[in-house]
Amino acid sequence: MTEGVTAGPEPLFTPEPIPLRRSLDADPEGWASQLRNAVRTVQGLQEKLRLSPEELAGARAAERAGLPISITPYYLSLCDPFDVACPIRRQVVPHAFEASEVEGDLRDPLGEESHEVAPELIQRYPDRALLLVTDRCAVYCRFCTRSRIVGTGAGPRSERRLLPAFEYLRAHPEIRDVIVSGGDPLAMSTPRIARVLQSLRQIPSVETIRIATRIPVALPQRITSELVEALRPFHPIWIMTHFNHPKELTVQARDGLRRLADAGFPVLNHTVLLRGVNDDSAVLAELFRGLVRERTKPYYLLQADPVRGTSHLRTPLDTGLRIMSELQGRLSGIALPKFIVDTPGGLGKVPMGPSYVVSRRPGATRFRTHRGVEVDYLDPPE
Ligand code: SF4
Repeated sequence: MTEGVTAGPEPLFTPEPIPLRRSLDADPEGWASQLRNAVRTVQGLQEKLRLSPEELAGARAAERAGLPISITPYYLSLCDPFDVACPIRRQVVPHAFEASEVEGDLRDPLGEESHEVAPELIQRYPDRALLLVTDRCAVYCRFCTRSRIVGTGAGPRSERRLLPAFEYLRAHPEIRDVIVSGGDPLAMSTPRIARVLQSLRQIPSVETIRIATRIPVALPQRITSELVEALRPFHPIWIMTHFNHPKELTVQARDGLRRLADAGFPVLNHTVLLRGVNDDSAVLAELFRGLVRERTKPYYLLQADPVRGTSHLRTPLDTGLRIMSELQGRLSGIALPKFIVDTPGGLGKVPMGPSYVVSRRPGATRFRTHRGVEVDYLDPPE
C-alpha cells in the first residue's frame, strides 16, 4: 500500500501546542483534564492532524471495532500534524495496515490467557506474576501486546474482582515480585492505586512490586507530588516505563522521571523496537543517553511482539542485532539495554545479541571486539 496525504486546499485542523511547564504541580488536576480531553474519535484526529487516506481508513476501522483510539492532548502535541512518518504519530494513530494479518500474527502473542492462574493474574515464571488492574490507558499504542483486552470499557477492576488474585498470591509464597499492569495502573485514581498496593503489601511473600506504566511518556502531568507521596509508603516499588523515542523526553516527562527518582523509585525503561519509529541506532543512542541523564535505566530493547495487525510496525530480528552491535562500545553499559525476544506463546524471554566469538578451542576463546580487532582470551590452567 502506498502512503499518501489527503489532497485538499486547507487542513481541517488547528494544532495547539501544549506549553511545556517546568513544574508539574502548577496544575495538579491537569492530568484529569488531559484524560477527559483525550482524542478518541476520527473527527477529533482530523481536527488535529492531516490524516493520510491510510490513517483515515485505519481510524475509521478502529472506531468501528478493534483497538480504540485515545491520545492525550499532551501526547498529540508531540505529533507532527503534517508528517505521516512522524515517529510519535506512528505509535498512536491507526493505519489501514492494522486490518492485515501475516503468518505468525497472534491475538495473544505472549499466551497470557493460557497462563492465567486467577482472574486478572498471569504467571509465566515461578517467582513473579502480572496483575492486570485496569483496561484503560492514557494512550492506546497501535503495537500493544495486550490490544485484545485494553480499552474494552470495563475500567478499573473492583477489589472483589481482584480478591482471588490476592488469595492466589498468598497461597504461593514463591511469587516474590508482582508487576501491576493493565492497561495503565497510573491512569486510575490515586486512592484506587493505593488500595491495590496496600492489598499486595499485606502479603508477606511479595517482596517487590513493579508498576508498569506509560504515564510518564503519555501523561507526565500525572506524576504529581500527591501521587508520589501516595506510592512511597509501599516501597520497594519499581517503575517500569516505556519511552520509545527521544522526542518523548520533553521537559515535562523529564520532570516526572526526576520526581520518581527523587522519591526513591528505581525507574527502568522498556523500549519496543518499531519500524519507522526507532529502528536506528543514532535515535536509540539519543534516547538511552537521555534516559540515563534522568536516572532511568534503559532495561530492555524489546523485539516487537507479533500482535495481530502490527506487521507494518515490526522489524526483522536482524535489525535489532545490527543496532545492538552498533551501540556496543559506543554507549556506556548503564545506557545499554538488553535486546530481548519474548517468545510466542509466553514460553519465556530470550536475550539476543551479536556474537563476538570467532572461534573456541580447549582453554582459549578468540573474540572480535566492537573495535573489529581479534583477541584471544585464555582460561586459567586446570
Ligand atoms: S500504554 Fe501500555 S498497555 Fe496501554 S496501549 Fe500502550 S502499550 Fe498497551
